[in-house]
Amino acid sequence: MSDLEYRVLELTRELISRPSVTPDDAGCLDIISKRLRPLGFNLERIDAGGTSNLWATLGTGGPVFAFAGHTDVVPTGPIEEWESPPFEPTIRDGYLYGRGAADMKTSLAAMVVATEEFIAGSRKGPAGTLAYLLTSDEEGPGTYGTKMVMDVLTSRGMHIDRCIVGEPSSSIRTGDVIRTGRRGSLNLSMTVHGIQGHVAYPEQVENPIHRLAPALAEWCAIRWDEGSEDFPPTSMQVTHVSAGAGAVNVVPGELRLLANFRFSNCLSEEDIQRRTNELFANHGVRFTAQWSLSGRPFLTRRGAYTHLINDCVSRVCGHGTEFSTSGGTSDGRFIAPTGTELVELGPVNATIHKVNERVALTELEPLARVYLEVLRDVCGRPDRGPD
Ligand SMILES: [Zn+2]
Repeated sequence: MSDLEYRVLELTRELISRPSVTPDDAGCLDIISKRLRPLGFNLERIDAGGTSNLWATLGTGGPVFAFAGHTDVVPTGPIEEWESPPFEPTIRDGYLYGRGAADMKTSLAAMVVATEEFIAGSRKGPAGTLAYLLTSDEEGPGTYGTKMVMDVLTSRGMHIDRCIVGEPSSSIRTGDVIRTGRRGSLNLSMTVHGIQGHVAYPEQVENPIHRLAPALAEWCAIRWDEGSEDFPPTSMQVTHVSAGAGAVNVVPGELRLLANFRFSNCLSEEDIQRRTNELFANHGVRFTAQWSLSGRPFLTRRGAYTHLINDCVSRVCGHGTEFSTSGGTSDGRFIAPTGTELVELGPVNATIHKVNERVALTELEPLARVYLEVLRDVCGRPDRGPD
């Protein structure tokens, strides 16, 4: 095992052994701070509402490059289904097992070790500013996490130019997929109003199920857009429908419906709401709708930065990378809208949020080396020979 791999492994193990279930950081940020401080980083904790956040910077002025990520993990699920305890990092058959191994404590360790290597190899430190934006609430509501830190940074006039989020983006091997954006997510909670009454008197009732059914069929059949070069087509899923007064001879007075849209950048949340409202109104459905936006779509266009990332992956891993915008949302949604060029690049995501979460040991060194290559390309000073 190389020295680099060993250091990533040891730090990942240290982080996994902290049971940092959202929003509890369980000391992970202290572990990372202890590694960054001797490198000269200026460390700032921006904690609020039970969430721990770290904003760390090395250097002054622009451009600003940031590693972003989270120390929190999702709950373990049924503990008896784990082959080894989730918070006791265990090596078995070439894998490191533990909650957070893939999402995303290995990434955090690889970032820190890559940063140590980069600083050790550069006499004058980074060109511009090298930063870390870490939170303990990415898997939860995230109210006091990256979103709040971005508000604070924006109020100070601080802008992040380029960013890597360490989310597990890879599919089969390290770096084969990076995310350059995410679809937007829009939730609908709808109540359809009717008039309750006896089934034997249809003229005295208004059945919300009957009212909704044809409208629902039409709504579900809508092709919202064709997608784009960067995004798959918008999709809508109805996730809940309920109605009923509890008796076979009573027409219910109300129906509840929940749905979620994953939408591309071909349309806006306003387009979706307007078209939905019109369709239901045209069918004579009486309803109240509550919309909530989890995140707008964001996209880092293909250009110098995505090419640079692709080059770094090729140099280290010997293969190129696929740009993707699929998957759920991530904290990138709070950073990218400020104009940051952002990619998500991390280990294979096959076991994230599952029992027996793991990362292949063969991923540790390539991941740190890719991060290191990015640091050299983005934050390195041009080599002017001995001075
Ligand atoms: Zn994650």
